Amino acid sequence: METIKVEAIVLKTTDFGDADRVITLFTKEFGKLEANAYGCRRSRSPLSGALQMFNHISAQVIHGAKVDTIREADIINFYDALTKDLERLAYASLFFEIVNRMTFPNEKDRETFDLLIKTLPVLCKRNPRIAALIGACKFMETSGVQLNFIECIHCGKEIEGDAAVSIIDGGAVCLDCIDFAEDCRPYPEGMRKVFEMLLGFDWRENTKLTFNTRQLNAAEKFFIEYVQFILGGELKSVNFIREFLDKPA
Ligand SMILES: [Zn+2]
Repeated sequence: METIKVEAIVLKTTDFGDADRVITLFTKEFGKLEANAYGCRRSRSPLSGALQMFNHISAQVIHGAKVDTIREADIINFYDALTKDLERLAYASLFFEIVNRMTFPNEKDRETFDLLIKTLPVLCKRNPRIAALIGACKFMETSGVQLNFIECIHCGKEIEGDAAVSIIDGGAVCLDCIDFAEDCRPYPEGMRKVFEMLLGFDWRENTKLTFNTRQLNAAEKFFIEYVQFILGGELKSVNFIREFLDKPA
């Protein structure tokens, strides 16, 4: 059995047995990785503190024939603000659920690891709805499943003013091409501006974002619908947001 050292973000935790957990890590070295952490729900376990969702950790994983097991884990960074504030927790969970459900284990993906590292502090400081949407939009972009928000997918013309968008065709449709689109939803100029700002968000310069709540609601609703269409199912964290925060997501 081989022991590997990883740097990772704890993407998800699932309880099993009396005190055990399956930990889904997003590692810098190997992409997503699932490993069992035995006894980690006992407060005396040396693993219990480190293996909490959203933590940035270093860990030693024993690579077994059937399952991987976490032997040691140390915290590099943790994001207290996410667990103390229900709204931040809900939106961070939404972003993490999208990343988890749209990635496959053992596919090295440094871009997504870096994106998680960059998004976590923003989720702690800024409006968490916007931070989660920035993270998720950028993730879809690097995963190659993003809609084309800028040009008409039928004629290639840059979209100006109000237009339509087709989830099935994969992006914006100009008013001249509407008859060729498989499915058409409204794509007002305000919504396009939101997506342009989110996708162009500069982590270092903290791009100033100027849109109103109505535009944000419309963009968020559309984006969630799109992600659920790709997944072919509902995002659990969206139900949580609707039920407990009474937010439109
Ligand atoms: Zn067109």
